[in-house]
Amino acid sequence: MNIHEYQAKQVLKEYGAPVAEGVAIFSADEAEAAAKSLPGPLWVVKSQIHAGGRGKGKFKELGPEAKGGVRLAFTLDEVKSHSADMLGNTLVTAQTGDAGKVVNRLYIEDGADIDRELYLSLLVDRTCGQVAFVASTEGGMDIEEVAHNTPELILTLPIDPLQGVTENKASALCDTLKLEGEARADGMKLFPILYKAFVEKDMALLEINPLIVMENGRLRVLDAKVSFDGNALFRHEDIVALRDKTEEDEKEIEASKHDLAYVALEGNIGCMVNGAGLAMATMDIIKLYGAEPANFLDVGGGATKEKVTSAFKIITSDPNVQGILVNIFGGIMRCDVIAEGVLAAVKEVGLQVPLVVRLEGTNVELGKKIISESGMNVIPADDLDDAAQKIVAAVKEVA
Ligand code: ADP
Ligand code: MG
Repeated sequence: MNIHEYQAKQVLKEYGAPVAEGVAIFSADEAEAAAKSLPGPLWVVKSQIHAGGRGKGKFKELGPEAKGGVRLAFTLDEVKSHSADMLGNTLVTAQTGDAGKVVNRLYIEDGADIDRELYLSLLVDRTCGQVAFVASTEGGMDIEEVAHNTPELILTLPIDPLQGVTENKASALCDTLKLEGEARADGMKLFPILYKAFVEKDMALLEINPLIVMENGRLRVLDAKVSFDGNALFRHEDIVALRDKTEEDEKEIEASKHDLAYVALEGNIGCMVNGAGLAMATMDIIKLYGAEPANFLDVGGGATKEKVTSAFKIITSDPNVQGILVNIFGGIMRCDVIAEGVLAAVKEVGLQVPLVVRLEGTNVELGKKIISESGMNVIPADDLDDAAQKIVAAVKEVA
């Protein structure tokens, strides 16, 4: 689960991290009062969407000449006009996809005098099985680009869970970020704080880009992107309360109600699969044959008829879907039960696009028989390879 920048800063502030003062607003009428409550004379008006790259983003409605989704304001009037400009409009950034995201909230923040912009993040490093810091002096820009062009400027520093952030580790981070004087003292305090917040709140990612050294020599968290481990949300009511459903895909919200692991994607082949590994393999093979999956969907091991039906509804509600591939391995579940579930779902939901069904496992012959005798327009497949080729061909024919 993701949260907005201003919410992430609030969480970090509670742990003692240095963040600027700011006020979140939902309508342009609130802009002036928000700015007046801050010290000034420089304000920053920041679009709050669940995507980065806002500064360099463009508003669809405002044309290519207009400024981006993070703007400096030198007067109260500018705060007001920037706010009116951004709210309700669609911001397209390198991370939103072409559709962009509608800006429903703004964060009016105290402006900082920036000396240097640094990069700092915390993530779960699966190679070493530890939480790791990633740090670089090259902040404020696209870190993927830095990693590609100048990997020597990035330090990855795993933290031993039993020792936490030791003096040595904090010093190493200070060295990499070239922190001196007060900024170094701020860093020595900040790094353990961030690690504590990350672990206690079950974060999956905490990215500060940029962390800045201000002209007065102090450190400040200027941007914050946080996502949380969905499996741990049950023990963080305070975090769940920050959820902004307008930022989430409606189909994903619906799927979570039915306990389906669903992620919407950009392609046109809807997939219904059981088991995350098989779902990944199915997506891979669709790509191998030159098409793109419309979603990841794991209906789980004990998929009932009801689950299969709701999965079908979610897949068919996606206007991009031009074909569906059902790829189910009947292990504990029997293939004949699955076949009946699929047919019942098709009957209930209706089928406007080609459907390929590949079943394997217990009672597979019976399952196939049920499908082939159903009189429905279902294309049976023998194995994963066959299934992928058939659905890709069927979709190409339609298109
Ligand atoms: P994004 O990464 O989505 O573009 P940021 O919060 O990183 O958004 O803002 C983009 C840039 O805007 C920063 O790199 C920084 O140069 C500037 N900026 C952001 N917030 C402030 C602030 N409070 N004071 C001064 N400059 C800011
Ligand atoms: Mg940023």
